[in-house]
Amino acid sequence: MSRVWNFSAGPAALPRKVLEQAQRELLDWNGSGMSVMEQSHRGKPFIAMAAQAEADLRELMAIPADYAVLFLQGGATQHFAQIPMNLAGPDDCADYIVSGHWSEKAVREAAPYLRVNVAASSETDGFRRLPARESWVLDPAASYVHYTPNETIHGVEFHDVPEVGEVPLVADMSSNILSAPLDVSRFGLIYAGAQKNIGPSGLVVMIIRRDLLLRSGRPMAKVLRYAEQAAHDSMLNTPNTWGWYLAGLTFQWLKAQGGVAAMAERNRAKAELLYRAIDDSDGFYANPIEPAARSRMNVPFTLKDGALDGAFLKESEAAGLIALKGHKAVGGMRASLYNAVPLEAVQALAAFMADFAHRHG
Ligand code: PMP
Repeated sequence: MSRVWNFSAGPAALPRKVLEQAQRELLDWNGSGMSVMEQSHRGKPFIAMAAQAEADLRELMAIPADYAVLFLQGGATQHFAQIPMNLAGPDDCADYIVSGHWSEKAVREAAPYLRVNVAASSETDGFRRLPARESWVLDPAASYVHYTPNETIHGVEFHDVPEVGEVPLVADMSSNILSAPLDVSRFGLIYAGAQKNIGPSGLVVMIIRRDLLLRSGRPMAKVLRYAEQAAHDSMLNTPNTWGWYLAGLTFQWLKAQGGVAAMAERNRAKAELLYRAIDDSDGFYANPIEPAARSRMNVPFTLKDGALDGAFLKESEAAGLIALKGHKAVGGMRASLYNAVPLEAVQALAAFMADFAHRHG
């Protein structure tokens, strides 16, 4: 059976060991004679598995006790809307930092629920750098400050947590959660769609400081209210049991790999290798992002001659290097280097790129 090197932006590669374990357990999980997907979330085995997954995530990210961890549904996009509903009233204001496609989308989805203040934006720079911290015009009365630490499409990443004073910092970490150590106590709320660094799509992991659960927001259905989800251990209704289980397997895999510090080291090496392949190509390949803001997770690049894009994609696919087509918003290519993508995959990509440039340069 042949597996490819998968550079998809998401849903993305999962660790081979996680898939193998899921495969082994598919017909008989935990001696139950059935898969985890086929049993009640109210049963003891599922509840124990769910609690272990949370405990492992808490250990991996050193999540302080005054934060709740939620396993939700709806994708990050639904929480673009649900976060303002929960954290603010209709007349309140929130600050948004716009650094690419996803933070822009977060603004649009929040706008019906409160007053959005775009406190900074790098749109006029084509999102090729981050909005300089000095340019941020934060409102001290804001209910929260929202930003996107890693922009999956534009390939820009914050390498430090911005200082925003007392206002809770809210971060969409869909594409860089668990990729490096993080001081969770700097944040009010962290959320991430699972389908990049955690597991399958259909699951959102949220880490929320408990005092924020006390905010009344506005009238809304219980199922939308984070405080209700926290009070019911994310089982107010049937959770994504399969996603939760696979997330749990990924957390165990991460622990066995040496945790997020080991991941950070690997991710640094992977990104360095690929950026070097681009920068040392005599202009055959180019990445437009200011070096200090380059993403370690998503690396967009273009070919000097766009007419070669088709050949690049066809030949890379034939070489077992999959999903390198860039997002239509920026064009060209994109390689996503999440935790489950091994250094070996990036070495294969860099070697292919050098060979392709040699043959077509
Ligand atoms: N935020 C970021 C940073 C993303 O990369 C994505 C998906 N690529 C989303 C939000 C949207 O996620 P979903 O499709 O799960 O709603």
